[in-house]
Amino acid sequence: MTLDEALSKTVLDKDDLVFLLGLTDPRDVQRLHDAAYAAKCRHVGNVAYYRGLIEFSNICVKNCLYCGIRRGNENVRRFDTPREDILAMARWCHEQGYGSVTLQSGERTDAAFAEHVEGLVRDIKKIGGGGLGITLCAGEQSEETYRRWFAAGAHRYLLRIETSRPELYAALHPGDGMHVWKNRYNCLRVLGKIGYQVGTGVMIGLPGQTLGDLADDILFFQTIDAAMIGMGPYVVHKDTPVGQAVLASGENSDECRQKRLLLGLNMIAVTRLALKDVNIAATTALQALHPEGRELGLKAGANILMPIVTLPRFRRDYQLYEGKPCINESSEDCRNCLERRVRSAGDSVGWGRWGDSPHFARCSQ
Ligand code: SAH
Ligand code: SF4
Repeated sequence: MTLDEALSKTVLDKDDLVFLLGLTDPRDVQRLHDAAYAAKCRHVGNVAYYRGLIEFSNICVKNCLYCGIRRGNENVRRFDTPREDILAMARWCHEQGYGSVTLQSGERTDAAFAEHVEGLVRDIKKIGGGGLGITLCAGEQSEETYRRWFAAGAHRYLLRIETSRPELYAALHPGDGMHVWKNRYNCLRVLGKIGYQVGTGVMIGLPGQTLGDLADDILFFQTIDAAMIGMGPYVVHKDTPVGQAVLASGENSDECRQKRLLLGLNMIAVTRLALKDVNIAATTALQALHPEGRELGLKAGANILMPIVTLPRFRRDYQLYEGKPCINESSEDCRNCLERRVRSAGDSVGWGRWGDSPHFARCSQ
């Protein structure tokens, strides 16, 4: 297969996906990213929409083997942002013209948490007369909890499947009955049934993951009809079992990290070519591996940015992975810096707009 052949297809099969994901020659990679950028302009426009990211708590009942805030990591100082501060951050986002906020946290399934988030959503919804779009990203919950949060005003939910291959998922999570691929998959189905715009995604460059797995991930996004995709490279955290294994095997050299970055960008580009009119985020993890990671993401076909709004005093304690950028910055710094990044990618910011994906609008009619 030649690159011309693969890029001229309107429907990509698994072989095409694997071929495109595996490109490494800089000229080929450039052509792939340019084609994806053109597809983004055609299907969703070259406008970057903001979802102000409020990482409101790092308390988590889960123990995912790769994540820096897993329950078992005792080096983390746990925090729970006071409710008034969260509301002030959401108001700030609205004043800045961020169209939406994303509330993200570790996973808790106790009744107090469900009620807390419900109240937050209800109060954020009142800001500016319902002006802010609300995305939630708080892990696996019961159908009842998801329904309550939806009724309170959340309309998007981000739950990464992490990998579409259950065996790989099992290798990256404890086998304690709390981390079950099928349960996560069922959550995605329930979220769609309730009426949320469903976002999912994977980590890219995980130990044991193949190009075939990543191609299957893209086919999985198609199968579940995701409206938005949030994915990024896997980044080592030294206080985690997966991070320690990767470090011990020498797989975290600069070269390995740059490979994961390239794979992350190719994944964005190929997902854009395959899924066309969905929202795709250029996530902060890209920037952990390259100072211009997020611009490169926009240039490879992403159209969503999640500027960090988390209170500066908590940023250091919300490190899912190491080298997370912006931990010493304020929300104002992040706002100014990101707009420069968007412009340098040739895009404009969709100030004050929700930026729902055309895909969701098309499929929910
Ligand atoms: N607790 C919720 C939301 C917060 S975690 C949940 O797990 O869904 C958000 C995402 O961070 C996860 O879905 C995972 O894909 C990502 N993540 C965790 N550890 C990571 C790492 N070491 N490198 C890159 N991404 C990571
Ligand atoms: Fe908790 Fe999410 Fe990290 Fe898993 S990935 S340990 S659920 S915060």
